[in-house]
Amino acid sequence: MRKPDGLRVAYIDFDSFFATVEEQARPHLRGKPVGVIPFHTAAGTCIIAANKIAKACGVTTGMAVREARIQCPDLVLQPQSPDLYVRAHRKLVMEIEHILPVGTVCSIDELTCPVDSDWQKDPAGLAAAIKEHLRKTVGPYITCSIGMGPNRLLAKIASEIEKPDGATILHPDDLPGRLLDLRMSDLPGIGSRMRHRLAQAGIHDIADLWNSQPRQLRALWGTVNGERFWYALHGYDIAAKQTARSMYGHGRILPPDWRNMDKAWHCARLLTVKACRRLRRDGFVAGRLGLWLSAKEGRWGGEHPLDDVNDDRSCVQGLADLWEQARANLPDAVRVKKLHVALYRLRPAEQRQFSLFGDTSANRQKWSTLSRIMDGLNGKYARTLVSLGPWTPPPGGYAGGKIAFARIPDMEDFW
Ligand SMILES: [Mg+2]
Repeated sequence: MRKPDGLRVAYIDFDSFFATVEEQARPHLRGKPVGVIPFHTAAGTCIIAANKIAKACGVTTGMAVREARIQCPDLVLQPQSPDLYVRAHRKLVMEIEHILPVGTVCSIDELTCPVDSDWQKDPAGLAAAIKEHLRKTVGPYITCSIGMGPNRLLAKIASEIEKPDGATILHPDDLPGRLLDLRMSDLPGIGSRMRHRLAQAGIHDIADLWNSQPRQLRALWGTVNGERFWYALHGYDIAAKQTARSMYGHGRILPPDWRNMDKAWHCARLLTVKACRRLRRDGFVAGRLGLWLSAKEGRWGGEHPLDDVNDDRSCVQGLADLWEQARANLPDAVRVKKLHVALYRLRPAEQRQFSLFGDTSANRQKWSTLSRIMDGLNGKYARTLVSLGPWTPPPGGYAGGKIAFARIPDMEDFW
């Protein structure tokens, strides 16, 4: 492992992404405090993004709308528009590529770029060039904070130092330098439990962490990741471990008038079909379907075996079975607040094992073909034109197109 001598990674983190995209797209919001909310009805929901003006009034992400209105009486509430955020994300990635290639897309508002040798000599010029290009081609309202460092961890830490619209360079020759000004809670990958464990070992701040030994962190983490963290923090070029995809899942918080079992069923069914479409698109089959419901009255979760399938009918049948179990186990008048479905035990479709029981392979072939034909039709018209059974999206739309932190939805997820 070599200690690099230059700046290898630029980490670009867009500031208050959903809120600034709304401001860029809707001129009437500009100059006002804006809070993005998940539904068209504000009651009982929370702020999922706030712009700079709203933040200055004390509005934070995750704050209840009621509280946010007390903090900022002029707050303009804007229901989320995930398809707009996905389009903005695509446009930004495309425009950044004009300056330098995008390496990894970490989430809808964070990405990394490898820094080539020319730009390594002028990191401040690179940050300025990216910002200027985005201002000209996308607009001035969507701003980003750029961090540069010898590896991804330090570049990400650097991107957090000056926000919003900042640019921070952590050159390996200057380490630990500005790292020492940070708090332990500013470091990505160190949660409160790990901080507690570190404190018990006498590591209370970044200086202590800097002076620790790789083997000591390995022991405290209990895995080799502790050692990896030490090397990354000290500027070594250590690649992040790739995690293999293990499930296709969709979750949804139901709007207040959708919290009964009948309406929740429509939503669960729709999320299952969406997960199934993604499974097919990526060429996998699943061996298990899981369903989780949470309500004030209690939680229920269960799983159903699947026969290495990826067609809508098999998965919806599995869901129907789970739904019956959930009904039997939850009180009649249950108010389902949150539901989540996931397909897992994945294997590539070409490695599918044919079972001796259940559907015959000819029968299964028929349902797989039908699902593929429906995908083709829906793809052609960019909306859900055909489906097996009713297609009733909950209000607010976008079931399954919800922006996850680590997954950029495909346009197809919004149909
Ligand atoms: Mg961000």
